[in-house]
Amino acid sequence: MISVEEALHRILRIIIPLGQEKVNILDSLGRVIGEDIFAYRNIPPKDNSAMDGYAIRAEDTRGASVEKPAVLDVIEDIPAGAVPRKKIDGGKASRIMTGAPLPEGADAVVRVEDTEKAGDRVKIFIAATRGQDIRNAGEDVREGERVITQGDIIRPAEIGMLAALGRSFIKVYQRPLVAVIATGDEIVDIDENPSPWQIISSNSYSLAAQIMECGGVPLQIGIARDKREDLVSKFGAALRADIIVSSGGVSVGDYDLVKDVMKEVGNEMQFWQVAMRPGKPLAFGSMGGVPVFGLPGNPVSSMVAFEQFVRPSILKMMGRKNIFRKTVKAILEEDITKKRGTRHFIRACVKYENGKYTASTTGEQGSGILKSMVRANGLIILPENASFLKKGDEATVQLLDCSFEQMQNAEYP
Ligand code: AMP
Ligand code: MG
Repeated sequence: MISVEEALHRILRIIIPLGQEKVNILDSLGRVIGEDIFAYRNIPPKDNSAMDGYAIRAEDTRGASVEKPAVLDVIEDIPAGAVPRKKIDGGKASRIMTGAPLPEGADAVVRVEDTEKAGDRVKIFIAATRGQDIRNAGEDVREGERVITQGDIIRPAEIGMLAALGRSFIKVYQRPLVAVIATGDEIVDIDENPSPWQIISSNSYSLAAQIMECGGVPLQIGIARDKREDLVSKFGAALRADIIVSSGGVSVGDYDLVKDVMKEVGNEMQFWQVAMRPGKPLAFGSMGGVPVFGLPGNPVSSMVAFEQFVRPSILKMMGRKNIFRKTVKAILEEDITKKRGTRHFIRACVKYENGKYTASTTGEQGSGILKSMVRANGLIILPENASFLKKGDEATVQLLDCSFEQMQNAEYP
């Protein structure tokens, strides 16, 4: 049996980023950009006024005060968008609005609150300093500067920057198409009426949601019965995807045929079983170049194994630089016993209080207890070599809610 580390290594070495596509910037939200963006011009393009007021020469206001204002001739009105025509020489001023380009000769703007209009002249009540209330050309972005780097995630701010640079279309990495196959003779789909012996395929939906949450596109292949032919046909249909994820049928039972079928359908089997709990029976290989994850069927095992192995794979395919969840050190709020030699992922409620994280378990930890995931916002990662952790010990916790919005009574660190 291999370790989680080794499994991740073997998986990620065969995952390569997908190709790119051109999309409108509004369709690029949350996507990973596939090119560097350089500024083709300065932003702002010209020196302009940061205030409504008067464009002047600072030296003409030397020593000015409320008692002894400088009085200047107003020669022009420059609203935003206008092109200034008149040069500011000694004793001159132009009325100027926020964002309007600075007229030649002016080296400061005096805000309107520090002035008083007097016919076609203006009284300036302060001594201006050179450069005051002027936004310089290129102070936001310099021509030629790299403003967005390949591999960055596009957020609203990047979309604004792309728009400011006139880029309506950009290259982004394609989103992986991820096929989901549920397996099991006892499994029915969501809107079928289950008999008391049947179970609704919750995995089909939790997995699809996990795929969507990290930016992939789920492709529901449906439910395969625990029969060779049905599994072969469902896996065959899944080959159009970039990644295949199945749930169930990878344990050691008589009807656990997924491994055999994975081998049969042009598979290169990489490994089966990982020293982890939950998620131990994970099988990984590829079919015709498509990576295949045979996840265990138990609802928690399937979700936890997805988190550890499939999510980083999807993110790597999408060109992401950071493919792992954020981890923090947290103080355990209870004793936890574990099996030595295995990495445990304990569903946890993580809080941030008084400058530190704390983690408590979400109750019953069986791999069929989906409620333990519903209540969790993190996974406590207990290392292989440990067998017992005490209340008050520090442990690594993987945060599942990036936003932490669902945490109660917590302040964001
Ligand atoms: P298996 O790995 O196929 O032995 O399944 C282990 C357990 O997970 C069984 O109790 C199954 O009923 C359950 N299970 C398997 N597939 C699903 C599914 N798609 N949705 C919910 N539970 C499942
Ligand atoms: Mg089964």
